[in-house]
Amino acid sequence: MAVIGGGPAGASAAREAAQRGLSVLLFDHAHPRRKACGGGLPVKGIEWMDAPESSIECEMTSISFTLKSTKLKIPVSKGKMVRRDDWDFYLYNRAKEAGAGHIVERVTSLELEKGFWKINGKYIAKYVIGADGVNGFTRRHLMDRIPREHLFAAGGYYLGIKPTENEVEFILGALPGEEGYLWVFPKSDHYNIGYCFNAGTPGMKEALHKLMEERWPGEFVDRKWKLSETGETVDCKQFGSAIPSYNDSELFDEPVSGENWVLCGDAAGHVNPIHGEGLNHAVLGGRLAAKAISKGDPTLFEKYWRSHYSRDMYRAAKTKHRIYGSKFMRIGFALGKTPAMFEMLASLTRGDYYGKATRNFWFKLPLAILQATFRMKHKELKGLS
Ligand SMILES: Cc1cc2nc3c(=O)[nH]c(=O)nc-3n(C[C@H](O)[C@H](O)[C@H](O)COP(=O)(O)OP(=O)(O)OC[C@H]3O[C@@H](n4cnc5c(N)ncnc54)[C@H](O)[C@@H]3O)c2cc1C
Repeated sequence: MAVIGGGPAGASAAREAAQRGLSVLLFDHAHPRRKACGGGLPVKGIEWMDAPESSIECEMTSISFTLKSTKLKIPVSKGKMVRRDDWDFYLYNRAKEAGAGHIVERVTSLELEKGFWKINGKYIAKYVIGADGVNGFTRRHLMDRIPREHLFAAGGYYLGIKPTENEVEFILGALPGEEGYLWVFPKSDHYNIGYCFNAGTPGMKEALHKLMEERWPGEFVDRKWKLSETGETVDCKQFGSAIPSYNDSELFDEPVSGENWVLCGDAAGHVNPIHGEGLNHAVLGGRLAAKAISKGDPTLFEKYWRSHYSRDMYRAAKTKHRIYGSKFMRIGFALGKTPAMFEMLASLTRGDYYGKATRNFWFKLPLAILQATFRMKHKELKGLS
């Protein structure tokens, strides 16, 4: 079999397939390379991801959500930040160690001849796993491109200032009425800062620049950031790419596999549509794709991914518009800081909520409204605005 793309999805698929005794060819032309990414290993599903100490830049100590002057800061103990070049290269090497052959070539042709794939006109494989990212070659070849209206545009800077705290920040409402957020992620020796909004949203970059000016007053000089207070110039390397973000849950109904192929990771659109986290589903999806092929039926992938993580995807696609609505945000933040709701919000954020969130929400709502009316805050938020 052949795996096209050696990012988290493809490398995990190739390793799993090799461990299951399949003969594997892994195609990627770019390693080692730094993929545009925040590098936050999602708290939810962190146990799916094989991230050794050497690839961890720092451990998250808290995750915060800010809307105007209200900040909900949640202590966490599970999330980790990786450098995508180190972590991806580690996963890629693990696949090779497991026995996957690697071909340093970009795949540009894929033809089906008498039940076998011919790749780049010379390599033969019975099955193909497409893991070459959002709108990569295999996605375009085997399905349609993900339409622009179902993509986030995400970009930002590696800002050469050493973080003082390992707080992962999501800043909402920077572009009122628009769906998306700004982020500030801590790394070992820099901040990874960026924007993530529906593709085509006007003013995304400007909103990020405004945040930079507020946090670290200064200006761009020769593609670096010059701090006004000290006159010091720090690195400010730009990055950017698209992320699948389905605005209609029906897109998840469409099969991402066929008789002799499977797509996984970004190529399959398997990213949470609300916040754009995809690393957990890339790794798990890759492994499930390999499992399906090892059983001789790639379409089993539909059953596997649906039983493991489709619920979150569908729920996120269905609620995305509501959640980013200005009214919902305002009410959500007012209620979120109350003693009645904060605990639930905190355990959802930490990925350790196992109850029925919707039922509990409605159960706690009357008390939360009462507490919000009297401006009551959960004790962990007492020092915050
Ligand atoms: C700016 C930004 C920030 C993000 N931040 C986060 C975050 O903090 N946390 C999180 O969970 N997710 C984040 N994501 C999403 C996350 O990066 C993706 O979901 C994840 O990288 C998907 O992994 P993948 O293996 O499917 O694809 P990719 O990581 O895109 O890997 C695809 C691989 O395929 C190779 N390739 C491409 N074309 C070909 C070809 N024709 N032939 C051979 N090889 C090919 C590439 O070289 C690459 O190695 C972010 C995305 C962006 C754009």
